[in-house]
Amino acid sequence: MKSDTSSIRRNRSLPIIEPELLGRVLASAADLSIVMTPDGTTTAVLVNPNAESMGNLGHWEGRPLRDFLTEESIPKLERVLRKAAIGEGDGLSVELHGVVDRLDLGPDGGATVVDYKLRGARVNWARFLAGQQLQLPAYLLAVRTAGAAGEAQPVQAVAAEYQPVEPRWQSNGEADFAPQRVPPVMKKAEQQDRLAGLLPEALNHTQRIIGELAERMLAGEVGPLPLLSPREKGWTACGLCDYRSVCRFDPLAGERYRQASGRGDAELRDAIAAGGDFSGSARGDGPEVQR
Ligand code: SF4
Repeated sequence: MKSDTSSIRRNRSLPIIEPELLGRVLASAADLSIVMTPDGTTTAVLVNPNAESMGNLGHWEGRPLRDFLTEESIPKLERVLRKAAIGEGDGLSVELHGVVDRLDLGPDGGATVVDYKLRGARVNWARFLAGQQLQLPAYLLAVRTAGAAGEAQPVQAVAAEYQPVEPRWQSNGEADFAPQRVPPVMKKAEQQDRLAGLLPEALNHTQRIIGELAERMLAGEVGPLPLLSPREKGWTACGLCDYRSVCRFDPLAGERYRQASGRGDAELRDAIAAGGDFSGSARGDGPEVQR
């Protein structure tokens, strides 16, 4: 296992923050974190202490990463390096990895991303705008991007659903397995029409939010700044967090939370559907999320 963080400091490959802290944050944020030069030479390898199956990867340092990749992964690496080299997307190229639980494809190419949750879940728009609930919209964004890439049968992102695997029991004793859906199914046609723009607008915001979060990280802002939601009885992101022991966030010492929007969920949803401007919501300098 590689956990020595001195190589980050030596190679000056990331913005200046305390190297020991940066190394621990990176090592905890993913099973495997790799820092590379623009030509793909590995300068630092950090393995999450909980991912013991990774083994000792210290010998990757100083060697081309492509030497250790499978044949199908090498083109992906080349693509990322090429994009970074030509400065595509204002020099910011972000590659996310995830596994979709289920993807339903209709005969017309309409795609619904389904995520199984034990008792279901719902999209919380205040947390979404703060960049805290991006999993399903990021999957749908991937579907939209792939669909736009010119498949024989164009694929269109039409919905995302949280599907409960345990029933919600009704007062009449019946089991309710209905998914929580975005866009939601409304009772009245005019309500449904009002939400017609919700999905495309939410996906545009998803792209912007991912960009804002990545920009903050690349600017060296990797210190803990957890979210607090005043409307949810003071809910904080720290409540069930696995990384509490390494992040050193200490509100007793005066460290601050980010404040999620105090506006109601339906109000935020309608504002997104209407094309509202929420720029800065994940940076914490927009009106909806404050540092
Ligand atoms: S405990 Fe809170 S501040 Fe620390 S990493 Fe988790 S969410 Fe962030």
